[in-house]
Amino acid sequence: MGYLKQLDVENFKSWRGKQVIGPFMQFNCIIGTNGSGKSNVMDALSFAMGERAAALRVRHLRDLVHGAHIGQPVSHTARVAIRYCDERDGETVFSRTITGDSSAYHINGAHVTHAAYIEELSKIGIVTKAQNCLVFQGAVESIALKDPKERTKMLECISQSKELAAEYQKKKEDLLKA
Ligand code: ATP
Ligand code: MG
Repeated sequence: MGYLKQLDVENFKSWRGKQVIGPFMQFNCIIGTNGSGKSNVMDALSFAMGERAAALRVRHLRDLVHGAHIGQPVSHTARVAIRYCDERDGETVFSRTITGDSSAYHINGAHVTHAAYIEELSKIGIVTKAQNCLVFQGAVESIALKDPKERTKMLECISQSKELAAEYQKKKEDLLKA
């Protein structure tokens, strides 16, 4: 199973210039004082996964540029790259760059459409359309309060076990018949 090795950020939110977040392990915990940028790490990851501005706590994509929140953007562009590693393909770099409010997507340096980018992410199990694959600050309570069936549905969607449900059911029935 692959994992997120590193995020390369450039003029994105609280990071000025080129900076590296990571390396990450297979399980990570980010700690820091209020306002130190913990949620910005989630925003950087979501941004590079193709999320819309609203989901990233800003009105316009250009607001994501370092300094834009105080009306002093340091650049017209910002970029985040996900360095993803797995045993089969080694490292794959998924990157998103904004210039003003436009986005450009690259995989290993090659320009791709948004649809192709999302498609490649889904091939490695990152299903951005599931929407619940990242649990943001404030959402924990709403998940805890879901009724058990709803929560199960959500977890099945995230883990993609739903796709195996029919096969599982058939094997179970075969076993009972045997
Ligand atoms: P909390 O513990 O309160 O949830 P946090 O560690 O999650 O805090 P974040 O929300 O990630 O903190 O970061 C907030 C910080 O990011 C603020 O200090 C804000 O000034 C900074 N910030 C947000 N947008 C930008 C930007 N465009 N340019 C520079 N800094 C930014
Ligand atoms: Mg936060």
